[in-house]
Formats: sequence, structure tokens, C-alpha cells
Amino acid sequence: MHVLKNISTLYTCCMEGPQDSIHPIENAAIVWSEGAFDWVGKESELPEKYQSAQAVDAKGHIVIPGLIDCHTHLCFGGWRPDEFEMRIRGESYLNIAKAGGGILSTVKSTREASFEELYEKSASLLRNIIQLGVTTIECKSGYGLTLQDEIKQLKVYKKLQENFTVDLIPTFLGAHTIPSEFKDNRKGYIDLIVHEMIPYVAHQNLAQFCDIFVEESAFSIDEARTILNAAMEHGLEPKLHADQLSDGGGAELAAEVGARSADHLEQVSDEGLKRMAERNVTGVTLPIASLYTQQPYLNCKRLVDAGVDVAVATDFNPGSAPSFNMHLAMMLTCNHGRLTPAETLKAATIYSAKAVAMEKKIGSIEPGKSADFVIINTPDLNFWMYHFGGSKIDRVYAKGVRISE
Ligand SMILES: [Zn+2]
Repeated sequence: MHVLKNISTLYTCCMEGPQDSIHPIENAAIVWSEGAFDWVGKESELPEKYQSAQAVDAKGHIVIPGLIDCHTHLCFGGWRPDEFEMRIRGESYLNIAKAGGGILSTVKSTREASFEELYEKSASLLRNIIQLGVTTIECKSGYGLTLQDEIKQLKVYKKLQENFTVDLIPTFLGAHTIPSEFKDNRKGYIDLIVHEMIPYVAHQNLAQFCDIFVEESAFSIDEARTILNAAMEHGLEPKLHADQLSDGGGAELAAEVGARSADHLEQVSDEGLKRMAERNVTGVTLPIASLYTQQPYLNCKRLVDAGVDVAVATDFNPGSAPSFNMHLAMMLTCNHGRLTPAETLKAATIYSAKAVAMEKKIGSIEPGKSADFVIINTPDLNFWMYHFGGSKIDRVYAKGVRISE
């Protein structure tokens, strides 16, 4: 049994209350054993029976729940730095694609990479991600686009889960885009997803969610409905990349199928938000993608006002969001998403847990929950969000074990 003492402010981030309720406790202590929290409260009120627990000194720093990155594309072959420069020079998406860029270039590199190469690269990235305070990470396939290569990515996540203490939440994203060999046969690819990929992935327990990119350049609403219904029949819970570049009705579809989350939403309609609120679909903002693609940011205030819980994630991928820094995503959510630091912290913890159906186990510091927490060397939450510079993260714990260097 361990007790963490000398916490200046503990931000417990319990679910109760609106987006800005993060339930802070000053001069706090927390007790955990066997990977879960036993007691949380003011240090002066620490019960007698915990006095003999092994003490850990928080050194007067703040403590928050482990950050949850609920939307990443962690496993991929290659990188796309040339495309980054082309975009800055103002090259069109079409020209970038013609020069061999875009999602399909990552598909090519991912197909060419061996399982071992993909594993080593993802493991190395994950070690860095952990140092930034992340204790749970959702990770998608979607750069294979054949049964074999989608499975290769999902098996990388399975092996990572075996070797790391943090939680990985695998998502099948075979419907990321139409691969080139099916460019004249959309129906053929959708049939492959529905009749081969989804049944195999579900049967082998390789994913918890099924995601789809709903966009003019990717999949239509009707195609998405077909794919997500098939996923649900096989026990995969739906998620959507929705309304990023245009209001294509993605949010409405997310509500219709009862999706766990709708992500991006930069162009979402008021009607879409209303329906998401009615079905309790979490809205996930991905501001790093807006930063790198020079697209408008999602005004998260609109979602909160419409009664939609907002989560924040990095969307880490080699094209539109080549950063896995949750602190950066959170700072952008404050400055461009117009959420306060408190609202943003709730977005990165308990509401992010909700976006991956884990809110009963993680996302807040409460007795019974997994002992995932981060000690940050900063006077308070506002200061951490405002002073964006070198990492102020002092120590990271997952399941009660220190996992940072
Ligand atoms: Zn994404």
C-alpha cells in the first residue's frame, strides 16, 4: 500500500457536474494498493489505518488523472515530412497526392513494413508518449486496407498491450479510405470490410471499436451506415471521423447508430449537435489536425452549450497531425477551442475515458479506479495550460506503478 502526500492541488476530475467541474482538493493525499485507489481526500483527514502506508512525496506539485489520448493512429510505416513542406508552400491536396503523398503513401509504407519493424517503431513512440503523462491510448488500424495488413497493425497493438502497463484501446479503421486497387470498385472494398475484415477482427478479439472516415473524399453516409451496422452486429462499438471538411451529416449518423464518439466535427451543424446531445455521443476535438492543415478549429464552446460532452485527443498520425503531445492538444483546446483549462482537463481525462467506454475504470481519481495519475511541477492547472514550454511532468503512474523515467 502506498500514500502520496504533499499534493498542492489534486484535480480528481470526477464525472459529476458540467464540463468545468473537475472537483479539486487542496493539500490532498491519495492511497492506493494493488493498482487501484483506496482513499482520496485532504491529507489532514488521512485515516489512521493508512498512516503506515509507504509514503511518496509529491513535493508540493499538482496531481491530475493519467491523460487519455482517445484518438490516435499510432502504428504506421514511414513518415511524410516532404508533404509538410509542400502544404506550407500552398500545394493542393491533389498535387500532394500526385507526388505520392496523402494517406495512400502511408498505406504503401505500412504494407511494406514487417510486423517487427512496426512493433519497434510503435513501442518507441509509446515510450515517449508515456513521458508526456498519457496512461491510456486508443489506437486505430487503417493503413493496411487489406485483411492481412489491417490485422498486422492490430496485432502490433495486442503485443504492445502485453508489454506495457498503460492501456491500449484498439480500433478497426478499415474504412479509412478506398485503397488504390479498389478505386474503380468501391462496392468491392466495402464488401471486403463487411464480409471479411469485420467478422475476422471481431472473432479474433483484435478491436473494441469500429471507426470510419465519413467525408466526400472517403465514405458516404449510406456506406458508413452499412459498415457500422455490420460492425455492431459483430459486437464492435461504432466511432466516426465526422464533419471535418464539410457538414456531411456525420454527427447525425453518429447519433442514429448510437456511436460512442464523433471525432473532428469542425463543420458540424446545430442539428447534428442537438442529436448527439440527445444520444449522449461524446464529441472529440482534434485541434492538432487543424494546426497542421491550416483548417478552422472546432469551437468546442458550441458543443458544451448544446449539451455535448467534449473530449480532446491528438489524432497522432504521420500526415495531418504528426505530434503525440497531449499538452499541445490541450493548450490548443483552450486557445482555439475556447474551453477553460478546467473544461479542457475534463476533456482529456474523464470525458476522454467516456469516449473509449472506460469511464467506470479510469479517467478520474476516485476509490476503486485504476491508480493512473500524473504529478506536474506547476503552481496550478491554469499555469500549466498557459505556460507551454518544456515538459513539467515530474512522474507518471499507471496501475499504481511508476512508468516514467
Ligand atoms: Zn484520425
